[in-house]
This record gives sequence, C-alpha cells and structure tokens, in this order.
Amino acid sequence: MVLAVLALRKEEVNSGTLLPMPDFSIGVDLGGTNLRIAAVSTDGQLLEKITLGVKVALGRDHVIGEMCDAIHRLTEQYRGSGRFVGAGIGVPGIIDMETGMMRMSANLPGWADYPVRDEIERRLGARVFLDNDAKMAAMGEKWMGAGRDVDNMAMITLGTGIGGAIILNGKIVYGMNGMAGEFGHVTIEPNGVPCGCGNHGCAERYASATAVVRMAREAIESGQAPALAKAASSDAEFSARSIYNLAIQGNEDARKIFHRFGVSLGILLAGLINILNLEMFVIGGGVISAWDAFAPPMFAELRERSLVYAATAPEDPVGKKEGASAQIANYTRKKTIITQALLGSDAGLYGAARVPTA
Ligand SMILES: [Zn+2]
Repeated sequence: MVLAVLALRKEEVNSGTLLPMPDFSIGVDLGGTNLRIAAVSTDGQLLEKITLGVKVALGRDHVIGEMCDAIHRLTEQYRGSGRFVGAGIGVPGIIDMETGMMRMSANLPGWADYPVRDEIERRLGARVFLDNDAKMAAMGEKWMGAGRDVDNMAMITLGTGIGGAIILNGKIVYGMNGMAGEFGHVTIEPNGVPCGCGNHGCAERYASATAVVRMAREAIESGQAPALAKAASSDAEFSARSIYNLAIQGNEDARKIFHRFGVSLGILLAGLINILNLEMFVIGGGVISAWDAFAPPMFAELRERSLVYAATAPEDPVGKKEGASAQIANYTRKKTIITQALLGSDAGLYGAARVPTA
C-alpha cells in the first residue's frame, strides 16, 4: 500500500511539451520498517521516490511482491523515452555476493539462505544487484553526496547498529566474500559488553542509537541519574533523541553518554585512519543529528590515538553546523577529511540506483 508518494520529477513542462527523459535505474532501500523505491536518472537526478510501510511480519514473499509491484510501476512510468538500466537493492544484512543470497539479517527473519536476487530478477525480467544497505549508502555518498570529489573514502553509518563500507578508486571493497567493512564489530573494549555477534566490546555497543539507550538505562539503574530516570518514566519512546535533547539542555548524565559515544567512535576511527589513510571518512545514519554532542570528544580522541590523523588533520575539524560543506571547500589532498553525510536517508537509494549503472 502506498503510504506516501513524493513526486520529485525534475523535468518541467516546457512550452507544453515534456523534455526528453534520460536513462534511469531503480534504487531500493529495504529497511526494517520502510521500503523505499526511487527512480534515478543516470546523471543522478531523483525522478520519483515511493515510500511503502513494509510489514515485515507478513513475510518475505509479501515484501518482495510489494517491492516488485512498485518497481514495475516506476519502470513503466519512466520507460517512455529513457532506457531502464537495472535495479539495485540495499538490504540490512550480510549478502553473499556470488549467489545473491542473504546470509544473515537481524531485521528480516526468514530471508536467510533464500535466493533473493534471483527471485526478484525472475519477477522483473531485469538485472538486479543486491547489496548490504551500508555499502549502498556509501556508494550514494560517493556518487552524489559528501564524497563526490574523492576517489577513496570510507563511510560509517550510525543507526541501530554501525554499518560500514570502504570505497577505493570509486569501487566498493568487498573482501573475499562481501563481508569487508564490518566496522561495528571491531573491538574497542577488550572486556566490554557482549554483542549479538558473539564478541565483547564491539564498537556498535558504544556508538549507536541502541548503545545510547543502553548506557542511559544503566545510568538510571545505578540510581545516579535522576534527570534521565525522570525522562524515561515520562517518555514512552525513551530514545537516543530524548537523551540527546537532555544533553543539549546541559544535563550532565546525558552529556556523559554522548561523550562516551564520541570517545568510542574516535577509537574506531583512529584505527581505520591508521590502517587506511584515506582522503575522506563520511559519518552518516540517523544519529549524526547528535553530531554537536559527540563530535568534539571524537576529534579529541583521534588526535590522541592516531598519528596519521594528527599529521593530516584540517585546521578546524569540528566545524560549525555547515561543517561538511565548509570542510569540503577547504579540502586539500593532504588532509584527512572527516565529515557528515549529505544525503540523509536518501544515500542508500542513490547508491542502489548507481550500482547498476557503474
Ligand atoms: Zn559485535
């Protein structure tokens, strides 16, 4: 069912006739709560975006059916004078790139070891590219977002967990079987809290939306954080955003949580910078709206822990609200740029649409 349709067609009626439409591809972002589908021209214009509330509980076949119907509608609509190049689909899980099957997905129960790519290709009669959602988002930022002027970058996506991707010479690094870029499960605390992956002290247990809420709940249980306890009891959806709101109001317990978040992210990034020495590290995902709360301790930690960063840091790494674009403007090849993603939740759609054309 169509819950919202955002018509973003760029073509304008010109003297009564439509301008010719360019070739296009379809990008799909399959999340745990939303299924979003976009038609994007091969020169990077978002032609139209459809958001479907996807009832994952209704099962895999239902979701794939809704997805294929929507892709079909869009391709029929834009096929007029432009050529349909193919579809890319970003999914929250680990993909086996050879077989196009999902190996593991916490958010999509029942999808593992099912030939997702082949089934969608069969239904659409078109070439389909299936990839992890964080890799698609990185591809989107590389193409039309923060990374459009660099060839080499990594992206860290901060959401429920931490997603990651490395792009070298404009191409995603997959590793042996597609699992490269699992930044969220890098150990940052040897004896830290257990993670669903089986390890202890993974980065995403300290620097994600889930981690913020966990740290707040622990502070409340200790009895030492009365303002957090009050907020939790009066707020049914006690979330990372509620805790951020307390932090910017000056609540010390909430500030401590985002300090820990920033330090943890700094430890992760310091390792990545030392290993990769890339031109740009893009930080995206919903939690970047808390940038002003976690970025200062993150940058301080980077300078402490990474000799590569200390040698290549720009003058003003924290920046202001317009930090991302300001930093890009000051960009030189000798600096390590750490910046916010620019495309928000559309990054994955752009990336998914880019993959079939690249
Ligand atoms: Zn883990």
